[in-house]
Formats: sequence, structure tokens, C-alpha cells
Amino acid sequence: MRFKNKVVLITGASRGIGKATALLFAKEGAKIIINYFSNKQEAEVLVKKIKKLKAKAIAIQADVSNPAQVEHLFSSAVKSFGAIDILVNNAGIVNPKSFLDLTFEDMEKTFHTNVIGPFLCSQQACKIMLKNKQNKGKIINLASIRGLEHCGRQGVMDYSASKAAIVNFTKTLAKEVAPFINVNAVAPGLTETDMAKNWDNAFRKCAIESTPLKRLMQPEDIAKAILFLASSEADAITGEVLVVDGGNNLKL
Ligand code: NAP
Repeated sequence: MRFKNKVVLITGASRGIGKATALLFAKEGAKIIINYFSNKQEAEVLVKKIKKLKAKAIAIQADVSNPAQVEHLFSSAVKSFGAIDILVNNAGIVNPKSFLDLTFEDMEKTFHTNVIGPFLCSQQACKIMLKNKQNKGKIINLASIRGLEHCGRQGVMDYSASKAAIVNFTKTLAKEVAPFINVNAVAPGLTETDMAKNWDNAFRKCAIESTPLKRLMQPEDIAKAILFLASSEADAITGEVLVVDGGNNLKL
């Protein structure tokens, strides 16, 4: 049980990678705050599932891009579990559109959710974590291979740019809150969640063929990397981006 009694807050945990991460943390003894945005029912089903694993969990609704809601999320979490040891900034959106069709509102929404959200949540988490400097805090951000230098993709320009911002945010925050909090990112490749619903068969086939490990990622592949970075095994790692993509981003 690597995370016995550790308190973990995961944003956007009602589905996909966030949900898989919550289940893995539960199996390792953590107490989990499941943040959700619109899927109350899925969040509540997940809480029940976690309780069946004999772990503790609560679900709290909040839009990560809304400062008042984020404050409420963290104060409610501390009221319930007394601390936050690990924050996983997982909530994110993608809105495929060609560059010329992207509107101001599209750009604003993507950056508010994917960049301002992690900023607001990290700030709240750091205030709590820095109160007890004996306990090392951990923050893990969800970047994407699209945010890596050479991997931005046409059709998801806003998303790619937001994830590049998260890579820099991770490295800069790591310096700012050291030596008390480790800040790292996981950069997934194409992962089979609801985000994959819009991929047509040709795209899926091409993605598999161009991936050295010849498969798409599963949410659990990403969750395992998140747990590694949150664990004491990664105590000496900060400001890093762990790519989990079956080798897809490699320039072959
Ligand atoms: P997903 O299945 O689409 O789930 C997105 C989650 O984010 C949901 O739980 C959703 O909550 C939540 N969310 C959306 N907007 C929110 C907001 N404003 N406030 C709070 N929560 C919000 O996504 P996923 O594929 O698991 O992706 C998780 C993370 O990994 C994202 O940051 C994504 O960019 C990154 N990533 C994914 C892939 C991929 O191929 N899937 C690849 C690279 C990186 P509700 O359901 O309650 O609305």
C-alpha cells in the first residue's frame, strides 16, 4: 500500500484517465477527492466503487477554471480529509477545429480549462501543502505529447498550445515550490477515453501503425505513470515530463 492515508485530489476524475487514476490510488490505500464538472452520476458511482475497495472517497463538483469554485473545492476537501498530499491536475478539454475556424471563445475556453485550471488548483494545493513542510507534497500535471516541441498537431492548435504551456508551467512551478513540493507532468499519447470518440478508423489505424509499440494507450497506462510520480520512488524527480505514448512522439 504505497499511499496508505495519503490524501489525493484528482480534477476531472469522473471519467477517463482521472477515473483510472482514482481507482489505482484507491487500491493503494489513498483517500481520494473526485472532482467532476458535469457528470455527477458517474462521479458518485466511482465513489461507491472506491468504497467497495475499502478506501475513502468523496465527490465534489467544481469548474477548475472558476476561482470561487476551486476555492470551495479545496476548502471542502480539507474539511473532509484534513490535508492534501497529492494533486493531480487532470481535467482537460479538446475541441478539434481548423485554425481559421477557431474563435476567441474557443481559445479562451481551452486555455481557461487546460491552463488557468491547473494554475488555480496548484495555488490552492500549495497553500495547504506548504503549511506542513515536514510532509513532502506532490503535484502531477497532465500535459500531452501535443505540447512537446515537435508534436503540436494541426486541427487541435489551441489544445497543443495549452499543453505546451503546461510543460513550462510544470518546470517553472517545480523551481518555485522546491524543496517542499515535487511538480512533474505526464504527457500521454493517444489514449482510449471519451476524447478518442471522434477518431475515425483511418486515424486510429494510422496512429497504431506510427506507434513503435503498435497500440494506443489505455487510461491505466497513464494512471501507472501518475502513481509513480506521486510515490516516494520519485522523491528525487521534479520539473520532469514523463512521456507515456508507446514511442509515438519519437522522430524515427
Ligand atoms: P476525458 O475522458 O474527456 O475526461 C475529461 C475529464 O475532465 C472529465 O472528468 C470532465 O468532467 C473533466 N472536466 C472537463 N472540463 C472540466 C472543468 N472545467 N472543470 C473540472 N473538470 C472538467 O479526458 P481524458 O482523455 O481522460 O483526459 C484527461 C487528461 O489527459 C486531460 O488533461 C487531457 O488533455 C490529457 N490527455 C489525454 C489524451 C487522450 O488521448 N485521451 C492524450 C493526451 C493528454 P465531467 O465528465 O464531470 O464533465
